[in-house]
Formats: sequence, C-alpha cells, structure tokens
Amino acid sequence: MRVFPASVLAACGLIVSACGGAATATGGSAAGQAVANGGPAAAKAAAPAATTPPMKEAEPLTGKVVVIDPGHNGGNYRDPQAINRKVNVLTQWKPCDTTGTSTNSGYSEAAFSWDVSNRLAKILKARGATVKLTRNSNDGVGPCITQRAAIGNKAKADAAISIHGDGAAPANHGFHVIMPKKINGPVDPVVAKSSRLGIDVRDAFHKGTGLPYSTYIGRDALNYRNDLGGLNLSTVPKIFIECGNMRNAAEAAKFQDPRFRQRMALALANGLQHYLQS
Ligand SMILES: [Zn+2]
Repeated sequence: MRVFPASVLAACGLIVSACGGAATATGGSAAGQAVANGGPAAAKAAAPAATTPPMKEAEPLTGKVVVIDPGHNGGNYRDPQAINRKVNVLTQWKPCDTTGTSTNSGYSEAAFSWDVSNRLAKILKARGATVKLTRNSNDGVGPCITQRAAIGNKAKADAAISIHGDGAAPANHGFHVIMPKKINGPVDPVVAKSSRLGIDVRDAFHKGTGLPYSTYIGRDALNYRNDLGGLNLSTVPKIFIECGNMRNAAEAAKFQDPRFRQRMALALANGLQHYLQS
C-alpha cells in the first residue's frame, strides 16, 4: 500500500471524489485519521519507534459507542414467512422486516445500506468509536425491527442510525432524516436527543454530499414519525436516514457509484461526530 502524506489524506477527506480508487480503498480510515489527528502523523513518524513507542493519542470518539443498522437484508426475499411475521412496535403491529427497494437497474437497498454502513463503521472506528452493526452479512434474513432496536439498547449506544434508500415516485428526489416522536413509551426520554442527532446528521449529509432536501417528505429534510419499530423501541438516541430516492434516475446513479457512497459515509460520520462531541 502506498503511504500518502497527511496533507494528501486531508485533501482526500475533503474531496473524496477527486481521490478515485484510492479513496474507495483507503478513504474510510484515511479520512478518519486525517480529521482525528489533525495531521500530527509527521511528528509521530520522527520518533524512534524501536526504543520509545509513541504515546497513543486519544481519538476524538474514544469511549463513544455507535450502533449502525443497515436497513433490510439481502436474503429477506427468500423467507417471506419470517419477514412478514407481525411484531409489536407499541403504536401498531408491523411486519418483522421488509425487503426494501432497489434502483431500476436492480441495485438493492439492502446492498446499498450494507455498503454504506460498513464504510461508515470504518471511518468511525478510525476516529476511536466502538461500532456495532445490527447484521453481519448481506445474504441473511432479518433481524426483525424489534431486534434492531434492541441491539442499540443493549449496546447502550451513544447514538444509533438506521441507513436506508427510499423507493418513491421517480420524479421525487432528495434525502430526509426520520426522528422519533413521543409515544408514551420507552423512546420518550431520548426524543429530544434524537432530534438533535437528526439535525446534526441532516446538516452534515447536506453539506458533504450536496444532495438536496427531500422534495416530497418532511420539512427541510426532517420528518418525525411514531410508526417505526426501530425508533419506537429505542432507549438510545436514534434516527433513520433515507439517503435519497433510489427510483429517481439521477439519484440512482449516485447510489450505484462507490465513490459517492464513500462521500455519503464520510458525511454521516461527520454528522455523528458533531453530535457526539457537542
Ligand atoms: Zn428501507
């Protein structure tokens, strides 16, 4: 692997699309390190490593726990009985999970959410966070939305995010963030924090990807709902993001571009970090 100077890594972090394949292969950790360390790599390199190992600096997200929920699962379509089983999400009964949408050319939402989630995890880990995903492959079934919430609760996550792409009418476009509402339930104590998390991620995603606010849902890309199990059952600050409309041709092209997905992941990491450090 080539070693890039810190200034180059920083530039990659800022303009991921300009870094081509290298950004895809190394952009996650490189961008994370560049932001995390602010460029002391040169000073570290000068230390005689053999005799005096350099002190490990605390990364900005050390001690923070983030749970990432890649929406749906690549194998869901194979087991409709398991997926359609109704589960209690407190305000109603909903299917355990769904297959999700896809672009017109067949790139699935499950594959998209799996890819962006792993890119995001890599960046957050490089910045010191402890990261847990709610599924460990994209060829399985589930877990149910109730379980996806429970994983964040059990991990006592400082922040949890569920990553999706929408499947709306083709003329609709733009992204939106979904936050919980009070339901006289377990999510109530974290509704305010979730709202703050949602706004931080909205701002960073808009800035980092250049994608517009949704033209068809919410106001300024913010939407509050009380019908999602993943939110209703969360006892930790949690949001969903619909990264765009996969049925819109222009946005589908972006979803299918690995470099753009890296840009999305970096933007999400920046939004999460802003929330976790404020
Ligand atoms: Zn979805």
